[in-house]
Amino acid sequence: MRPKRPQPPPTQDAPTDADKRAMRRALKLARDAAAIGETPVGAVVYETATGRALAEASNRREHDADPCAHAELMAIRAAAEAVGDWRLHHCTVVVTLEPCPMCAGAIVNARVGRLVYGADDPKAGAVESLYEICTDPRLNHRVSVVRGLMAKPSAELLRAFFRERRAKVKPPKPRAGRAPVKPDQA
Ligand SMILES: [Zn+2]
Repeated sequence: MRPKRPQPPPTQDAPTDADKRAMRRALKLARDAAAIGETPVGAVVYETATGRALAEASNRREHDADPCAHAELMAIRAAAEAVGDWRLHHCTVVVTLEPCPMCAGAIVNARVGRLVYGADDPKAGAVESLYEICTDPRLNHRVSVVRGLMAKPSAELLRAFFRERRAKVKPPKPRAGRAPVKPDQA
């Protein structure tokens, strides 16, 4: 008998109509988050077989003063509560931004069947960018991942949010004369 080998990570499948519907809703939730001063990230959890939405959430870190109040983490908890089971094999998590290590860990711990995300997060992403938590063969559960769905509007929402926030925090100085010379340009 051959020794049992860890399964290879599932290959990326194509986004379904239900994924697209859920992502449009997640983008709307992300926009609503931005409108109340939260980093614009939205998430929806739906039942993969039927497309039935089980839970949704947007980022609420500032309002709840909760470092764990990320959109997908809250949506996962609400979905588990809705189905009365912490195991979400039969569910798809759709989120506008690549999950961080905490959320990717929660996705694995909840045994989520599928993950669909929008923009990559090169600074904190733990599905592809910095770590590959959802497909790591050393862990006891692997998630089928679809990345990059509606990545552009998701990334643009985040860029606009941070642009606006920077402008609020630091009003641009009036330009007088030439720009200061940086040491490396002198
Ligand atoms: Zn997170």
